[in-house]
Amino acid sequence: MLSVRDLSVYFSSSRGEVKALDGVSLDVSEGEIVGLAGESGCGKTTLSLAVSRLIYPPGRIASGSILFEGNDVLKLTATQFRETYRWKKIAMIFQGSMNGFTPVFTIGDQIEEVLEIHRYGGDPAARTRELLRMVELDPSIAERFPHELSGGQKQRAFIAMALAVDPPFLIADEPTTALDVVTQVSIINLLKKLRKEKHISILIITHDLALLSEIVDRAYILYAGRMAEVGTAEEIFRDPKHPYTKGLIASIPTLKSTKIEGIAGFMPDLANLPPGCKFAPRCPYAMEVCTKEEPQLKGVREAQSVACWLY
Ligand code: SF4
Repeated sequence: MLSVRDLSVYFSSSRGEVKALDGVSLDVSEGEIVGLAGESGCGKTTLSLAVSRLIYPPGRIASGSILFEGNDVLKLTATQFRETYRWKKIAMIFQGSMNGFTPVFTIGDQIEEVLEIHRYGGDPAARTRELLRMVELDPSIAERFPHELSGGQKQRAFIAMALAVDPPFLIADEPTTALDVVTQVSIINLLKKLRKEKHISILIITHDLALLSEIVDRAYILYAGRMAEVGTAEEIFRDPKHPYTKGLIASIPTLKSTKIEGIAGFMPDLANLPPGCKFAPRCPYAMEVCTKEEPQLKGVREAQSVACWLY
């Protein structure tokens, strides 16, 4: 359904060109839930914004293609993309979206506005109630203002808004951030239910690997704007290969752990990247070749690939 190929997104800054994404590829099949994980600033949100054609100056898509159902959406004009793809085919739950409702309009007004803008036929009020039921909210929530809802209810209402015109593809950027653990689980179960019942493809973006392990079919691990590792959930979480993926998994707290292992150091400055492997300054296994030549993704199992000179 979605095929991102060799995508590079750069931002101009006073410190020079910031390479937020450099030659990144990613695929999502019909009905698949795919995770994209990495630390803050690794390029996860930039990728989702590029897929939604929401990169504006000083950012630019420097190279690559984004194929959706076989069509390169980067070749469309902004108007063509807005009228054919945005929200109708590719909808997005933005990071912090539950705080994105306008406080002076009811939830129903705001969902109905989306239906009107995208010319969804039928009765907008009835469709809004149907959408709220779909995300397991009482339809009377349509009459309420955002401040009258809990964080979990607002997130569900935003998911209802994202589903307003039946998109086949949903991007969920940190969909459970700032929610308590019980609500996180209920949102994850809701996304699983939507995939099962509506056969929606979902790209989930998060820094929370524990959450990803609960829901995704496949996962991509991004580091400093480059893909470090790709694999099925089973491969990535049971037998990670890249030292960065191993570090991320080791930093997940468990009920038994008394000490959380972190990854030493910080991500490099994207405007001043080191040569070779970008993870080398933090990697306990770094070798001479790592500081000179950049490793490319290489298959280590049928579905698992890793960009590391150890393999
Ligand atoms: Fe570590 Fe070298 Fe692998 Fe990079 S390529 S992750 S520095 S071992």
